[in-house]
Amino acid sequence: MPGHPYYRGKGGAISGGCSGWCLNWSVHELMPFHVKPGKRPVVFLDRDGTLNVEAGYLRNISDLVLLPGAAQALTLLNRANVAAVLVTNQSGPARGLYPEWHVQKLNDRLCALLDEGGAVLDAVYYCPHHPQGVVPEYAINCSCRKPKIGLIERAFVEHPDLDRQAAYMIGDQSTDVELARNASLKSVLVKTGYGADVLAGKFQWMVEPDFVAETLADAVSWVLAELERQGSPDVR
Ligand SMILES: [Mg+2]
Ligand SMILES: [Zn+2]
Repeated sequence: MPGHPYYRGKGGAISGGCSGWCLNWSVHELMPFHVKPGKRPVVFLDRDGTLNVEAGYLRNISDLVLLPGAAQALTLLNRANVAAVLVTNQSGPARGLYPEWHVQKLNDRLCALLDEGGAVLDAVYYCPHHPQGVVPEYAINCSCRKPKIGLIERAFVEHPDLDRQAAYMIGDQSTDVELARNASLKSVLVKTGYGADVLAGKFQWMVEPDFVAETLADAVSWVLAELERQGSPDVR
């Protein structure tokens, strides 16, 4: 949605101290769709390997590149009035690779690239921690590093219009699927990023997602079909 003004408010602290932003949250209040009175379905999205190309720790902002079709897939959620919320582990600050503001810059670039494709993330949450980190401030056993559910819980607290009964997680790692199980979300594993290796048993551990998708577009199609099947009449 080029030209839409961003609204950026820094969220309050939760246990674990992760920061996040809200982007264009107010835009959707103007949209005509209402699935349940005052409630919106929500898709939580992983970042690396799901929206953008998995390329390890991104030391250069410009190295963040969208996966083909990612923005277009996200626009389908936007148009259906399904909230799209980023939840991402970013342990670079804990590992001493770059400061936390670098993570925020990467997320800003992601949002800018999505915006160019007409797509909006409703909120962005990340965990900068790692228990074996080398920077004391971030080297903690936090409650927000996926597969722990701190980021999800924070999203539901900060955005009470999100419908817990119509909540999904799309990601490329076992931790994303496990997060979904821990938070009682339906899960989609995308084959992009590490997804194919997860399915082949070469990365992390075997998981049983509710759906395996070739791409984010495939994942979004499945979610929208599920919502329709479950009687969310305004998702179309
Ligand atoms: Mg990932
Ligand atoms: Zn954390």
